[in-house]
Amino acid sequence: MRSIVILGGGFSGINVANKIAKKSKRKDIRIILVEPMEHNVYEPHYLFWSFNKDPLKKFTIPIDKVLNKRVLHLRTAASYIDTKNKLLDLTNGETLSYDYLVISTGVHLEEEQVGAYEKDNVHHFYSTKATQELQEALKNFNGGTIVISPSTVPYKCPPAPVEFAFLVDRYLRKRKIRDKSTIKFLYPLLRPYPVPSVAEKVQKLYDKRGIEFVEFFNYEEVDKENNKIISMEGEEIEYDLLVLIPPHEGQAVIKESGLGDREGFVPTDRFTLKVNGHENIYSIGDCTNLPVSKSGAVSHFSAPTLAKNILLELEGKEPSKKYNGFTICFVVTSPRRSMLLYFSYNFPPKKFGLHNLFIYGLFKKAFKIAYFKALLRGYL
Ligand SMILES: Cc1cc2nc3c(=O)[nH]c(=O)nc-3n(C[C@H](O)[C@H](O)[C@H](O)COP(=O)(O)OP(=O)(O)OC[C@H]3O[C@@H](n4cnc5c(N)ncnc54)[C@H](O)[C@@H]3O)c2cc1C
Repeated sequence: MRSIVILGGGFSGINVANKIAKKSKRKDIRIILVEPMEHNVYEPHYLFWSFNKDPLKKFTIPIDKVLNKRVLHLRTAASYIDTKNKLLDLTNGETLSYDYLVISTGVHLEEEQVGAYEKDNVHHFYSTKATQELQEALKNFNGGTIVISPSTVPYKCPPAPVEFAFLVDRYLRKRKIRDKSTIKFLYPLLRPYPVPSVAEKVQKLYDKRGIEFVEFFNYEEVDKENNKIISMEGEEIEYDLLVLIPPHEGQAVIKESGLGDREGFVPTDRFTLKVNGHENIYSIGDCTNLPVSKSGAVSHFSAPTLAKNILLELEGKEPSKKYNGFTICFVVTSPRRSMLLYFSYNFPPKKFGLHNLFIYGLFKKAFKIAYFKALLRGYL
């Protein structure tokens, strides 16, 4: 019996486990998912959840409800990966051996590095707890300056802070306090999005809605006593409410096991998804160092490659399937409208005619249903 162990059961891990279970008829394999959480969260909803209080069950699902029956879910975490002996040390005190390991542990949000989220006017929307606190802060906001900024790159879903600025504009208008408020979007580039054509469109919409863009702002620190965010170049910007995307790094288990790069991301072959220098370990999703966005869409489009390569290896064949970096991305510009981008390793992000459309807005909303009914279950 050979063991395929998937470490980390977020979207990437669940999807890969389900795909391997569905695609292989072999009786001589066991598929084990090591994941401490009971529920999976549809993270894109955090963006909208900042402004309304939908119950959690609207965008979370018990993992065991979407897991193929052939997958055994161990509700524990791993503290160390012993690659020499092909063993995982688990936090429940046990060890687990593997023949093939898939690392899909996502990122760790380094809130401590910022050291200001305990203040009631410094927030983010990248976790359930943080978004709940942001909801309260927005509810209590009655005018002033809202500053939105990433702290470091890479971070999950590159357009998310850009989108947040659009949605906060809409929210303040709805509450009739937009004229008493200033919205500033800070970004390390000279334009509000890496792709020039998209940035141009975003800038036009920002101008139209009175959102101020502060270019070339490289975040350095928060002066929480004086309510200022400070750049590496010494620029200081005052805020009444700061929405700062926390720094992202790899998980402790990756760093402790010596499997990460400087930030703890897993060096991964961008075509085969094999971890560099490790014959029987693959990696997928946000935990990797792939030169593509940290997004669910990347996981979705790369999962078939990873699953296929493991299945080929089980049959004694070369893991020859290659991921070409293809992915898509919606850029939300209002609760109802979005732009749709697509790109791969071979071409930069393209927009379907640079349109900001209601139909893409609908698509984006409908995605949650597709995510729970098909994507997570490994059907697509
Ligand atoms: C606000 C926001 C908006 C977003 N919008 C979009 C969007 O519009 N489109 C899009 O494609 N993507 C979007 N994303 C990104 C998307 O949600 C993530 O890229 C995706 O969920 C990554 O999945 P993952 O499985 O790689 O990582 P995760 O979902 O982070 O899963 C990692 C799992 O590993 C587990 N784990 C960690 N350490 C250990 C350990 N030691 N042992 C065992 N298990 C461990 C964790 O418990 C977790 O369940 C958004 C994200 C955010 C935050």
